[in-house]
Amino acid sequence: MITVEERAAELYEVIRSCTMCALAETRNHAVPGEGPVPAEVMCIGEAPGVNEDKQGRPFVGAAGKFLEELLAAGGLQRDEVYICNVLKCRPPGNRDPMPAEIEACAEYLDLQIDMVDPLVIVTLGRFSMSRWFPQQAISRIHGSVREFDGRLVVPMYHPAAALHQQNLRDVLLSDFHQLPAILERARVGRLPALATNVAKEEPVSMAKPALKVLPSESEPNALQPAPEGAQPGQIRLFE
Ligand code: SF4
Repeated sequence: MITVEERAAELYEVIRSCTMCALAETRNHAVPGEGPVPAEVMCIGEAPGVNEDKQGRPFVGAAGKFLEELLAAGGLQRDEVYICNVLKCRPPGNRDPMPAEIEACAEYLDLQIDMVDPLVIVTLGRFSMSRWFPQQAISRIHGSVREFDGRLVVPMYHPAAALHQQNLRDVLLSDFHQLPAILERARVGRLPALATNVAKEEPVSMAKPALKVLPSESEPNALQPAPEGAQPGQIRLFE
């Protein structure tokens, strides 16, 4: 029987020779992702940059160094975490990913999430965030936690966006400081208990209405009715 590591290696080989979108013509190296499989925490960024394209590894260079600092703030070492991007090949000039490229590459990310089977997914930047939180503003929802299909998903800013903005660095550090508590919540299985009382969210195409869960001042993390004007399908465990 094939092991999960062998499955990952096979997937990486497929990605390295993929020609399913035009980025194959301009890349030097596809960047499948790296880290243990399975892993409790999975970080998903946007797309390889110039250094990643050269080395075939995700989050190297200054953004990668800052990500390691952020992970340490969350009590994690880089080699404990699975790290990948929405796109596996670099868009020329580091332009934004295009919808057709994201769609072409989406199945690889699906397979990686299935393989890694994380308790907590940290989205880094708006392109990975929009997979679970379409039409949302990262400035409004960063650091909040919601459940999708049995996993906790936490949107955060991209480390590269914060490299030259001290205020964003502080925001990211503060959000990553929450990770141990979020992970502990996922580990001890309190979420399944909550999930018996609220509808779970599912990925964008299958979104369905649910309650919103907000912490009460007197009773942190207690279930509360959805406030007026709440978005359907939101479950927020931490503010
Ligand atoms: S970005 Fe994704 S879909 Fe496009 S060529 Fe690279 S691996 Fe294939």
